[in-house]
Amino acid sequence: MDKASPCGGEEWLFDSAQGHMYLSTPIEEIPRVGPQYQKKLKKLGIETVGQLIFHFPHRYEDFSDIIPISKAEPGKIVCVQGKITEIRNIRIFRRRMYITEAKINDESGGIRAVWFNQPYLINTLKKSDFVFLAGKMVSKNGKKYLSSPAYEKIPAQFVESLENGKRYDSVHTGRIIPVYPETEGMSSRWLRFIIKPLLTKIKDKIPETLPKNEVLKKHELLPIKEAIWQIHFPDTLEKAELAKKRFVFEELFDLSLAILSEKIRLAKEKAILIPINLESVKKFVEKLPFKLTLDQRKAAWQILKDLEKTKPMNRLLDGDVGSGKTVVATMAALNTAKSELQIAFMVPTEILAKQHFKTISTLLKGFRIKIGLITGKENFSNGRKIKRKEIIEKIKQGKVDILIGTHALIQEKVKFKKLGLVIIDEQHRFGIEQRAKLCRKQKYIPHLLSMSATPIPRTLTLTIYGDLDLSLIKEMPKGRKKIITEIIRPEKRQQAYDFIRKEVKSGKQVFVACPRIEPSTKNNGVGQALIALSWAEVKAVKEEYEKLSKNIFPDLNIGMLHGKMKTEEKEKVLKSFENRKTDILVSTSVIEVGIDFPNATIMMIEGADKFGLAQLHQFRGRVGRSKYQSYCFLLSEFPNNPRLKAMIKFQDGFELAEKDLKLRGPGDLTGQRQWGVPDFVMASLKNIELVEKTRIAAKEVLQIDPELKNYPGLRTKLKEFQQRIHLE
Ligand code: ADP
Ligand code: MG
Repeated sequence: MDKASPCGGEEWLFDSAQGHMYLSTPIEEIPRVGPQYQKKLKKLGIETVGQLIFHFPHRYEDFSDIIPISKAEPGKIVCVQGKITEIRNIRIFRRRMYITEAKINDESGGIRAVWFNQPYLINTLKKSDFVFLAGKMVSKNGKKYLSSPAYEKIPAQFVESLENGKRYDSVHTGRIIPVYPETEGMSSRWLRFIIKPLLTKIKDKIPETLPKNEVLKKHELLPIKEAIWQIHFPDTLEKAELAKKRFVFEELFDLSLAILSEKIRLAKEKAILIPINLESVKKFVEKLPFKLTLDQRKAAWQILKDLEKTKPMNRLLDGDVGSGKTVVATMAALNTAKSELQIAFMVPTEILAKQHFKTISTLLKGFRIKIGLITGKENFSNGRKIKRKEIIEKIKQGKVDILIGTHALIQEKVKFKKLGLVIIDEQHRFGIEQRAKLCRKQKYIPHLLSMSATPIPRTLTLTIYGDLDLSLIKEMPKGRKKIITEIIRPEKRQQAYDFIRKEVKSGKQVFVACPRIEPSTKNNGVGQALIALSWAEVKAVKEEYEKLSKNIFPDLNIGMLHGKMKTEEKEKVLKSFENRKTDILVSTSVIEVGIDFPNATIMMIEGADKFGLAQLHQFRGRVGRSKYQSYCFLLSEFPNNPRLKAMIKFQDGFELAEKDLKLRGPGDLTGQRQWGVPDFVMASLKNIELVEKTRIAAKEVLQIDPELKNYPGLRTKLKEFQQRIHLE
């Protein structure tokens, strides 16, 4: 409980506060939001009035029924209204605590209220004050009392009107009250205190962006002014539901609108037609050391067919970890290079860039394709290490056909002679932003292939992604065995170690993923919290490394990998693992994305319950990449954790994504993105009917007004939205 927080009784003063408020007003200008609270809000990403009022409660407490004190029965949540006849602090030395006890009376009778360890309450609540109290009635040792009730003082000037049967416009009691996701130091009480007067001031200034007739009326949605009020301070729980329905509809509608309008925009652009070079494609397939799966062949064909059009391709190649997307992309790259066009192949990390450079160079041996690598630090062309300036020059002259790289690839200086195809790997999003950067100053648009190992749940592919060109690889390469997944409780740890030793002795390798560390909330600022976090993870990795190499496996070779290491160091570590000189690699989540070490057969995840389902699945995908039996050990004290159970039940990423959707459940309007879209959209995606409705609504609006000329507000929001979810 924070003492600085308003303890009732002063709220009405707020209306006299001077100054105008807009959605864009910074939180610093909100009356009563001091520096401490500004920091806390910023930590949640809330910097403006608009962001604050769009910080929604995740549930409600219904204190709307005010009853006579005599009717308050034990076991019930009640709200009463009366006069304090006595209030005092009692110190209990034995238990080192304070109890604050008050007596409250109304016409029907009297009641006791008890608070624990809030002695400062007596500075706020005084004898003869009129108050609302809301909370649970308990009965202990024959005594009835209200236990730690929420309280709210009724200002003196309102007491008279109450006596005339009117109701005081309360904030924390006497109504349905919002409960916000609690973050340290920012109570729901404080948020209500700030948000309510703010809403009163601002709600009429919030522009309505949903089309009135086509959307609001047709789908019976609350207008924004009402919805924003009802989501915070609903008249009834039904009204709260209606408000939520509007915001969910809006989010899905915007998402559909973003996808559809991008499609319309792209259809007008021109790309270069790249004919299928059957000879090369055939030769490529024949040279592969394995047979392509049916899904791989289908996906490759769809891509090659797209390239054969003057309409820019915008395709997402989605396949579970290890399903073999790289080969498919390489085929598209080869075909493009054979038409004298360049390919930009972008990946998220340097490690992955190098690995791709190697893999693709091997796959394309004998095709006379020039392959380049550009990362933050090193650059290669045709197997030779060269200076950055040199590679940039080669790209400009068209002497590099396929350029593989990290973000370095989209920097200003890199200009292609004739870019035909952009491939973006492991992005979880569609990367048109990157494409836009890559085709600066070009007359035509390159084709775009995005790849993701983030399985999109079936419900999604049927609905929202229905308008996106999507190739799915669902079938795994032949001969892969099911990864044996087990939850390991602390007392079974030794057995897991014994097993690891046995596997290593037979020539296999092991990953150990260190537990995720929550950012410490003690830090004063997001930036600092993140830095502290990555160092904490480094510490965890080092400790685990020490433990394993000194105590557990002194006879084995242990390696360590974390985000704070220099690139050269990382390289060395990975090289040693690849050459099988390292038996066990201890790591942070850097091993999560993309890398391919078929000889690794055990993934041991420490503190597995700390990870999200998507991440756990990514971890597991690092093993099981060969014909050997692989294992995933989930170390946790909580064997009943539903995510861990789901990991055991499902292997398939698509099924897991579906399950994840269910586990999260609706109601959580805030939160992180996992599978590429915001959580609460994910939650509402369960409602296929609603998704379908929003998609049709978006289509209708765009059919009449493709540029959204009549809806400037919607147009602006669409732009913001596209940036926000990097959809574009
Ligand atoms: P991801 O889809 O996760 O990017 P990769 O492209 O890294 O997967 O492929 C994973 C591994 O599977 C690689 O070692 C690759 O050589 C191999 N692979 C790809 N396709 C096949 C196939 N059809 N049969 C056997 N192995 C394959
Ligand atoms: Mg990959």
